Amino acid sequence: MSQAEVDLYEVLGIANSASKDEIRKAYRKAALANHPDKVPEAEREEAEIRFKAVQEAYDILYDEDKRHLYDTHGMGAFNGSGEPGMGAGPDLDDILAQMFGGMGGMGGMPGMGGMPGGPRANKPRRSPNEEQKYEVKLEDLYKGKTVKFASTKNVICSLCQGKGGKEKAQAKKCATCGGQGVKQVLNQMGQFLTTSTVPCSTCNGEGEFFSPKDKCKKCKGKKTTEERKILEIYVPRGAREGDKIILEGEADQVPGQEPGDIVFHIVEEDHAVFRRAGSDLTATIDVTVAEALTGFSRVVVKHLDGRGIELQHPKKPGDVLSPGQVLKVPGEGMPMKRGDERGNLYLVVNIKFPDQSWKPSPEVLEKLKELLPKPEAPIQTDTVDEVDYDPKGDLDEFGAKDAHGGSAWEDDDDEGEPAQCAAQ
Ligand SMILES: [Zn+2]
Ligand SMILES: [Zn+2]
Repeated sequence: MSQAEVDLYEVLGIANSASKDEIRKAYRKAALANHPDKVPEAEREEAEIRFKAVQEAYDILYDEDKRHLYDTHGMGAFNGSGEPGMGAGPDLDDILAQMFGGMGGMGGMPGMGGMPGGPRANKPRRSPNEEQKYEVKLEDLYKGKTVKFASTKNVICSLCQGKGGKEKAQAKKCATCGGQGVKQVLNQMGQFLTTSTVPCSTCNGEGEFFSPKDKCKKCKGKKTTEERKILEIYVPRGAREGDKIILEGEADQVPGQEPGDIVFHIVEEDHAVFRRAGSDLTATIDVTVAEALTGFSRVVVKHLDGRGIELQHPKKPGDVLSPGQVLKVPGEGMPMKRGDERGNLYLVVNIKFPDQSWKPSPEVLEKLKELLPKPEAPIQTDTVDEVDYDPKGDLDEFGAKDAHGGSAWEDDDDEGEPAQCAAQ
């Protein structure tokens, strides 16, 4: 790349007629904005190069003699020390030509934008998709839902149609990178010298840019502007965690590229009553002892669409509900995404025994004892000890006093969980 193409005024973003004071101010501003310590880790390498270029441009332009030399003879007047850009090294034009053989063909599309900060030569034909999580309530997954929301995205500038410059203005080829949009930097890895490709900081990876007076007034040369747009997404009924909702072409627009998609990844919110597995649902229903024994006819749970789910118990006279018993309700699970079929609803019976507020008279208890099934035959042993007990024992204390016992209990606990799930 030719040294004569470096435009130090562009590097500092100033006019050729800039005063010393303007140069100093522009330098301070540019140096501050590009200081490697002030940018995120990932941008540091790029910032360092930019910082160096700014520093070098200032060194030449702020010195009246050097500036005069530069103005009359260009960068050719400087040997090494004050020279921005790559300096000595392998023939970078050749390397770039090898790496990006197709570059010549792209010359016909000046101003074709790249990902901001991305190497121009690696530019994809589509701008990247925007992936984001979207939390949805189980009710909305059951019924389906249309959501509208405002989104701010970059769109091609309507004034310059993505050119970045005024109508008749011509973009200048970036001298720092020779119009490639990328630069090779040498890295020392142990005893080896390696090269890596970084986006050109002077032209932001574009390979060319407009001088300040030629920049489009609306987008300030950025080629895109921000626009607020109302987007609408439809969550189909039966959608589940991990499903994607794709808004085609709604990602940020980049000149010369097909816009990518906004992709929502559905995340299912936990529900207070229902638990879902695929198209099936499960919920726990509370039933009193009297109901379990004598029956009931009532709504046991409010479904996700607000309907009351009513059960009649018993189905056969004399049937009794047991704790943990599972009542399968066919077709009351989640809707399938296609067709009218639904999964099943599994209701797990929790029998609520009376608490302290139940104060039956001795006569009532005597009657209950008479009515309810009798205990099995007594356990036969040689000796019998009557013992005292604490009615509020806690199984968390079980084995806790003994280190081995404690860990054994935790292991048991872990192993016990899948078995409990399977039993439900
Ligand atoms: Zn450049
Ligand atoms: Zn514009």
